[in-house]
Amino acid sequence: MRAGILFVISAPSGAGKSTLCRELLRRFKDIKLSVSYTTRAPRKGEMNDVHYTFISRKKFKNMITGGKFAEWAMVHGNLYGTSVDRLKKLSKEGCDILLDIDVQGAKQVKNSYRNAVYIFILPPSMEILKRRLMKRKTEPKEALTLRLEKAKDEILSYKEYDYVIINDKLDNAYREFESIILSSRLRTGNTVNFSMPQ
Ligand code: ADP
Ligand code: 5GP
Repeated sequence: MRAGILFVISAPSGAGKSTLCRELLRRFKDIKLSVSYTTRAPRKGEMNDVHYTFISRKKFKNMITGGKFAEWAMVHGNLYGTSVDRLKKLSKEGCDILLDIDVQGAKQVKNSYRNAVYIFILPPSMEILKRRLMKRKTEPKEALTLRLEKAKDEILSYKEYDYVIINDKLDNAYREFESIILSSRLRTGNTVNFSMPQ
């Protein structure tokens, strides 16, 4: 009855994007995450082909020249990219697709996928963002500083997105996130071949 939707989610690192996306994917079996390729080293608990496909820089660069990415970007010193083949495969399965990508990647996607829904997650303040990143303990000190510096630039891009969620209380933020997903599904533009049952 309706075409699959591409949901593009961006946020400064530590704003809670993964937490919100994880919960959405747990509840909505008809939304699939496009697993990105990255040259970043896996964090504790991250699984290959589940959280990311972890590859070398050499392999990543070969994929760029081979036209394998719908978008790619250098983020915090590592390369990240969305595979064209994975997007095509998910789209054929008829589900909605979630892209967890940075602002540079979202800009590239906007040029080629006009009907996507763009959602930006903001932290309540820089201080809280810093606290969350420190508490997560996934980055060494220098990497954490880099992420916080980058956050200031990234936050300026929020107006280029269709929706913004301030992730203060997690329950509220999740409810807002889910509302955006549900209302996007009801947009007339996403309904195809509707005819009134006789
Ligand atoms: P991102 O994917 O945007 O980098 P995460 O989802 O990893 O961020 O969240 C960063 C940290 O903040 C995690 O430890 C997570 O558990 C915590 N967190 C996320 N949302 C909230 C919230 N609303 N209140 C308090 N802590 C949160
Ligand atoms: P992390 O290293 O914390 O998992 O992710 C760092 C940043 O890279 C996040 O903003 C995340 O959204 C972004 N990212 C993850 N995958 C991709 C991708 O395929 N393309 C782009 N452009 N950014 C990505």
